[in-house]
Amino acid sequence: MNVLEEPIKEPIEIKNYIDGEWVESEGEYKDIVNPATGKVIGTVPISTQAEFNQAVESAQEAFPYWRSMPPVARARCLFRLKDLLEENFEELSRIQTMEHGKTIDESRGETRRGIENVEVATGIPSLMQGDYLEDIASGIDEYLIRQPLGTFGVITPFNFPFMIGLWFAPYAVATGNCVVLKPSSEDPFCQTKIAELVEEAGIPPGVWNVVNGGRTVVSEMLDHPDIQGVCFVGSTPVGRDVIFKRCGATGKRVIAQTGAKNFALVMPDADLDRTIAACMTSFYGNAGQRCLANANLVIVGEGLTKKEHEAFYQKVVDKFVAAATNIQMGYGLDESIQMGPLRDVGKKEKVVGYIEKGIAEGATLKLDGREFELVGDWPRDAFLGPTVFEDVTPDMIIAQEEIFGPVANMMKADNLDRAIEMIHDNPFGNAASIFTGNGKWARQVRYEVKCGNIGINVGVAAPMAFFPFSGMKDSFFGTEHGQGTEAIRFFTESKVVIERWF
Ligand code: NAD
Repeated sequence: MNVLEEPIKEPIEIKNYIDGEWVESEGEYKDIVNPATGKVIGTVPISTQAEFNQAVESAQEAFPYWRSMPPVARARCLFRLKDLLEENFEELSRIQTMEHGKTIDESRGETRRGIENVEVATGIPSLMQGDYLEDIASGIDEYLIRQPLGTFGVITPFNFPFMIGLWFAPYAVATGNCVVLKPSSEDPFCQTKIAELVEEAGIPPGVWNVVNGGRTVVSEMLDHPDIQGVCFVGSTPVGRDVIFKRCGATGKRVIAQTGAKNFALVMPDADLDRTIAACMTSFYGNAGQRCLANANLVIVGEGLTKKEHEAFYQKVVDKFVAAATNIQMGYGLDESIQMGPLRDVGKKEKVVGYIEKGIAEGATLKLDGREFELVGDWPRDAFLGPTVFEDVTPDMIIAQEEIFGPVANMMKADNLDRAIEMIHDNPFGNAASIFTGNGKWARQVRYEVKCGNIGINVGVAAPMAFFPFSGMKDSFFGTEHGQGTEAIRFFTESKVVIERWF
């Protein structure tokens, strides 16, 4: 065991970043525990309405100056931010592991993916360009320009504490808007560090604010007349019933990227070794706390007899269980570790509740993650080992609901049509994968499946920053998605000018 140096040595009291100042909140503070070591690593404030309002006020004051700064100059600020993020790459990654529990490799991947959004946003002088057509009628020209709107709110979940804020904030500020970001109160350290780098990069006061907290801040954000739009990533009940509805009622733009229950289909011609390797990172990466994690593995008997299908199913399940059994679990700052704990004890209890439900509804527990070995002498409270259920049917609760933990369901479908039907019977539509060597089957999945992100021989279909992070059905509420050109459209108003000179 070789644990890397921890960047958080003493508990940190998180402050808000408002109008370029680090401000202590008057709200209550709550402890944040490193889920692997059980140690308190800091406290986060549950900020007040007044504090949120101050942030909006400062953003509104900064907006006229910031929007009139040439896009190329705004881009230079983002280039500086990108350089600073690179310089602090390892520290930012280790902070994620400490505040969230994921392995250092997973954190480094998250840091890379987050920074890529800043890179894309530096292209704003090209990305924000409009359109022009001469002579729409004789001597009359028409053009479209994209203009920023003002102040946007960003609300992030706990599972990617570094990256998700960067799906939105760099695009918002690159287009000339200001932001108030509310990180998850469960792991806010990275967003504090990013704001320190924002300050160092010379992004003017008021343009990028961070107000920590929970529902009070969110509720104020949804009602505030100066907030033009809200970007939310989190669970479906909050995204749909709180954020989307309220934004509709108050007339705000909204992106709400929400929960998931993703299917992976294994076809009889799949390269099984590579498929199982991809499944391990997909099902158990981030301890299953990923909206792109696969959760239901459907072993498809297309073209097989019943007997052959059964044998194929057993082979896949055995390989899956053997690989899952070998996953090394412990503190993610040890580079040999492949899976960390869940974010906290409460989340583990919720997942254990689902394991109990699965047993009660008749699924066979093939690998029980409640019994596990740990590398290192860490408190076991938030850890839960890889779990595998067999004989899972689509109507079972464990197959329908988002468990958000290291639980894999083994399922069967006689053919590809039936497997796709199973995906469509599920309320979510975030991602789906197919493992096959057959282009026709792969195309059928790409063409028919109602999910926003499709993996073909890829277990985690995570869009790069220059593509939208998509999602359908109960996994997304809104029109434009985060990242890339859709984010640029979300953060700008299209203005059309028709021009004639006498
Ligand atoms: P969550 O919904 O509990 O919290 C998300 C954010 O909303 C947090 O900042 C939280 O403080 C705030 N919040 C929570 N309850 C609220 C309420 N009642 N009113 C107002 N604000 C509230 O989600 P989480 O547990 O932090 O994150 C996990 C969820 O996020 C999973 O469902 C996962 O699938 C989803 N997720 C989706 C995507 C995607 O792109 N579709 C990406 C990552 C995570």
